[in-house]
Amino acid sequence: MRVAVFSSKPYDRDFLDAANNGRHVFVYIEPRLDAYTAYAANDAQAVCAFVNDHLDAQTLDVLARQGVRLVTLRCAGFNQVDLAAAKSLGITVARVPEYSPHSVAEHAVALMLTLNRKIHRASARVREGNFSLDGLLGFDMHRKTVGVVGTGKIGLIVARIMAGFGCKVLAYDPYPNADCVAAGASYVTLPELLCGSDIVSLHCPLTPDTHHLIDEAAVRQMRHGAMLINISRGAVVDTRALIRGLKSGAIGSLGLDVYEEEENLFFQDLSNTLINDDVFARLLTFPNVVITGHQGFFTEDAMTEIAKVTVENITQFEETGLVLYPVSVERLV
Ligand code: NAD
Repeated sequence: MRVAVFSSKPYDRDFLDAANNGRHVFVYIEPRLDAYTAYAANDAQAVCAFVNDHLDAQTLDVLARQGVRLVTLRCAGFNQVDLAAAKSLGITVARVPEYSPHSVAEHAVALMLTLNRKIHRASARVREGNFSLDGLLGFDMHRKTVGVVGTGKIGLIVARIMAGFGCKVLAYDPYPNADCVAAGASYVTLPELLCGSDIVSLHCPLTPDTHHLIDEAAVRQMRHGAMLINISRGAVVDTRALIRGLKSGAIGSLGLDVYEEEENLFFQDLSNTLINDDVFARLLTFPNVVITGHQGFFTEDAMTEIAKVTVENITQFEETGLVLYPVSVERLV
């Protein structure tokens, strides 16, 4: 099958080529997929897309008119796809639902530890020959309360890791997970979680219900000076409300791996460019904010699995017209 791989980086090529082993023809296209770049799919029967590609009705229509019948996402989240439009155009959508939830969960914990022990500041200081400890005071994670919002595959592992630190774990999810209770977590309401947690870690998908889940009101409900981690999707938080929370001290520290407007920033080298996003630039001025550019998934294990399952989705579609891991509008209602 001929597959146009959008938003592709050299590392995507390495992992996909290794998994493909010559079975399909991958055409690597670096730009992000949208209604304009969709024409580059040319005579491909499938398109392989990533988190910031725009699979809205217009883009899908351009793809369908070129004969594309399969969109295979090399990620778990699918909020970037208009599933109703895909269905009406006869395009099958596939994803990689579980590649390595450990990769993302461990990155969330890395952000927590970095912020708590100020590793980002300590490392920069030591390189400058400054061995002062002023301003680097942290706290024991042991016996602190961690609130996990969304206890699916990733949230469950975060809960287990934090239980291992000796933390009390509070959880909020409309669909409680028995494994999370077995890990020692207690399910509470979202307001109870927010006011009872020293660290709040977000692991729910971006849906209409979770858009700006952490807004001004939610920040007010949080324990004063608590840490907030968002490694889910940028728009699960209202970034402007977080900035106000940081300025007032309501938010004691903030770790982000995702950002509402990340599509214009992340996954590219902008070090020789001015950053025009003033909200993002303001975030960078806080010493108690650590941002990584959507790299939670980026481990060798996860990339190997993403490539393997993506190739399996394509092969199965070519052979049977079905995919291993479909995403359909019916499954969301
Ligand atoms: P999952 O589907 O296994 O779990 C998501 C959980 O969120 C489910 O238990 C669901 O019931 C819960 N949920 C739904 N609505 C909720 C709400 N309103 N409040 C609280 N919980 C709610 O998904 P997962 O594999 O654990 O991934 C979670 C999210 O992490 C993905 O949707 C994706 O956005 C994000 N993610 C980020 C990266 C990264 O690199 N930063 C990588 C993979 C996934």
